[in-house]
Amino acid sequence: MGGFKIVSDVEKSPPSAEWKDLPLFRKLRHGVGKAIGDFGLIEEGDRIAVAVSGGKDSYTLLLVLEELRRRAPVSFELIAVNIDSGYPGYRTDVIEGFFRKHGFSYRMVPTGHYAIIQEKRRPGSSYCAICSRLKRGELYEAARTMGCNKLALGHHQDDFIETLLLNQFFVGSLKSMSASMLADNGIITVIRPLVYLAEEDIIAFSRQADLPVVCCCCPVCGTADMQRKRMKRLLKELQVDIPHVKNSLLKALSNVHPRHLLDSSLRRDSTVTEKTSALSLNSNLLPDPDSTVSQQISD
Ligand code: SF4
Repeated sequence: MGGFKIVSDVEKSPPSAEWKDLPLFRKLRHGVGKAIGDFGLIEEGDRIAVAVSGGKDSYTLLLVLEELRRRAPVSFELIAVNIDSGYPGYRTDVIEGFFRKHGFSYRMVPTGHYAIIQEKRRPGSSYCAICSRLKRGELYEAARTMGCNKLALGHHQDDFIETLLLNQFFVGSLKSMSASMLADNGIITVIRPLVYLAEEDIIAFSRQADLPVVCCCCPVCGTADMQRKRMKRLLKELQVDIPHVKNSLLKALSNVHPRHLLDSSLRRDSTVTEKTSALSLNSNLLPDPDSTVSQQISD
């Protein structure tokens, strides 16, 4: 890792502004600004690594954070970071071209993950589990070596909701993801500023802004994480009769009543308040939402 350098403001030009006047971009910016305020995601002096896979979510994350950085009353830094797992055909040149074109500081991290996965994966076991674990470790290490105190990931509202349902349906656990959480290494705080953004808005924006979305090119691209796709279908069906179902499920994550659940450890612990427990929800057991085809790396 130490051999990689950060490329800073290559062309010394500010990011192009062609998408900034799109009403949809303003809506996304507003949603991210609200999340930052509600969860205290960004503070003065933060140095934030932004994971960019070349998917719609991570490009959107980078652009919205950059716009907010320019407007913010506090000073903070952004460094885009891309992890290349080594799948043949993955177009890191397109992603790096985007960073350079728009003047972002960035680091490209090539890895030998594909070879490791081929060697270590047990027959029949999930590609995504080992792939996303390796990628997450590489992101933490990249952020640490770049002197960042935070790592921003592109999980959006639908990821939070689907993970909540997946954990209940398949794991038997009441949890999703946190908007802000100190990583196990005790150094990097993982933040998810897109928590309030609907995936359909991100898709629409990525088309309007003509973002150069690239494929992960992994062997399970397009077929991975079928259970998550099931949740998407289920939510779509539910929305016909309950239009606000997604908002309600997201709200449920910040409106937890431990005394009305069955977890005896929560009931015994009188110091756990109903509100603070909502913020400690976390997801480790399920494949990361970025296991989906549309957003491959920013986990
Ligand atoms: S879908 Fe994503 S997480 Fe799964 S193997 Fe492919 S690149 Fe890795």
